[in-house]
Amino acid sequence: MSALAAVLALAALAADAPYHATKKDFSAVQEGIRTYRKVQDELWPGAGDVEVALYDARDVFLYSHRADYPLPKSGAWRGFTIYRVPHGEKLTKDDLRGCGGSKPFVDRALSKATSRDAYFTCVPLGAFVAFQKRRKEGTVYDTRESYLATFVHERAHVYQRNSPNAPDVVHAMADFLDEGSIPPSSDRGQSVLAEAYAQWCELKAAEKLFPKHYGRLKAWYKPEAEGDHDIGLGLALRALKGAGGTR
Ligand SMILES: [Zn+2]
Repeated sequence: MSALAAVLALAALAADAPYHATKKDFSAVQEGIRTYRKVQDELWPGAGDVEVALYDARDVFLYSHRADYPLPKSGAWRGFTIYRVPHGEKLTKDDLRGCGGSKPFVDRALSKATSRDAYFTCVPLGAFVAFQKRRKEGTVYDTRESYLATFVHERAHVYQRNSPNAPDVVHAMADFLDEGSIPPSSDRGQSVLAEAYAQWCELKAAEKLFPKHYGRLKAWYKPEAEGDHDIGLGLALRALKGAGGTR
């Protein structure tokens, strides 16, 4: 094998190697938590921290304020205990794509400790950006600041799920219903409204903390797109505009 072929073979191996969270990825999680904390008094008054479950190709790393879970501990950070549990799932690099709600394999790994309503999941920053950059349809989630803004989005989903009757949530939902013809009783309507709320929170945070991501999100919106996130983004943008962007 020539030297060049050897280098190329190594590069191909590295590209397919299972992704394991790095020091940089953990510091991005911690910055993500700090990010949602900056807006939580405004967006979710009275709500505290939630748990964050970072997963890579091998493990789930749970950041929790509870120190008494019967799970192996791997560290601590500012009042959080970090637990590390192998999830036993075979994940390819395309499975490590984003952040969201609970996942069956994460739930199984954490079942002795916490409940699916208490946490949101996220992949490491490095895997997140790499996946987004591979998306052929383009994305605005290919930067560190979009990853941090996603922590606000996911924190918002947990809040809306657990406090659907909080006055701010009820108020925001009424605004979204004014802005579009959404049948709120259908599953699809519920999902679109939940995305509108999370996007609304993400936009409010981005406007303040990440002006570049805010501008990209606004420019990204395509009225013809039909995904729940897309329709939700449109409703959130219209509701913010209707309120003069200052509510
Ligand atoms: Zn969402």
